[in-house]
Amino acid sequence: MKILVIYTGGTIGMVRTAAGFAPSAGLVEAELQKLGAELEHGFALSLATLVPAIDSANASPLDWNRIADEIVAAYQTHDAFVVIHGTDTLAFTASALCFALEGLGKPVILTGAMVPLSEPGSDGSANLADALRAAQSSAPGVWVQFAGKLLHGARARKVHSSAFDAFTAGDAAVPPCRPAGRLQFHRYADASVSVLTVAPGGCTSVFEYAMGHCDGVILRCYGAGTAPDTPGLRAGLAAAKQRGIPVVAVSQSDGGGAAMGTYASGSFLVEAGVIDGGAMTVEAAYAKLTHVLGLAGPVDRRALVEVDLCGEFGSPRQVQGR
Ligand code: ASP
Repeated sequence: MKILVIYTGGTIGMVRTAAGFAPSAGLVEAELQKLGAELEHGFALSLATLVPAIDSANASPLDWNRIADEIVAAYQTHDAFVVIHGTDTLAFTASALCFALEGLGKPVILTGAMVPLSEPGSDGSANLADALRAAQSSAPGVWVQFAGKLLHGARARKVHSSAFDAFTAGDAAVPPCRPAGRLQFHRYADASVSVLTVAPGGCTSVFEYAMGHCDGVILRCYGAGTAPDTPGLRAGLAAAKQRGIPVVAVSQSDGGGAAMGTYASGSFLVEAGVIDGGAMTVEAAYAKLTHVLGLAGPVDRRALVEVDLCGEFGSPRQVQGR
């Protein structure tokens, strides 16, 4: 079995500097060599390093394209892929790869670390070893391997900023891949999507600005999909409607998701054409909206956002309950 490891950066390969942890060359390469020799294996490793290695805080959809490009280029010659990534936006990238790689028929495993390999007690070596094992045994799709858990790529979230067990994922009805006869990479375009959170009495002119300027908006509503009915949000939604840009509602609650129409107080959102993001995570909703905005030609973007492409809406119970 041939595994391609794609190293993008992140804490795992960082060293301590006066300004804080920063990417450094060589650490991950040395660890992979060590693991390659140590692990019981019948696999051959090759390494692609994205230069420069970055803190994933600086990742953009163009970096999602760079990772997907590596996978596509090596798809015929490799059986599985491990993507080493910073944890801050790892869940965004996992979702993004799920949507972009239609017809993915091989495992893609994302992993990283909370403590650099260069520091005592690092979780990097264990996560890397687990990811290499997962690459050999997992079903096709995009998975997150972290702290001993294999998580659905379109449902994963970073839920802790310092614990080793930093990721979780809700239920999913289907594996993290979009079935198709052959691999087709949908490249991300440079869409400007913003994520806005409603809060009691919060400044609302920001809605008007974003919905008047961005290509799409993710609206983090309360609970089942309510939001404060304010002139600012109404003006924003009117601008979005007039410009024909999608606004997708997701829930600020960790479980259950949005279910627009549950409460009369949320009806103005439905009337304004806000799309129900159901149980999608904000990461999945952001990647999905960026994906559909990047598709060329006559596409029903609303219908594509509303349909479950790769398990991002969660379990069947959650989908039916919407
Ligand atoms: N800031 C780092 C990154 O996302 C955090 C990490 O990797 O854990 O690249």
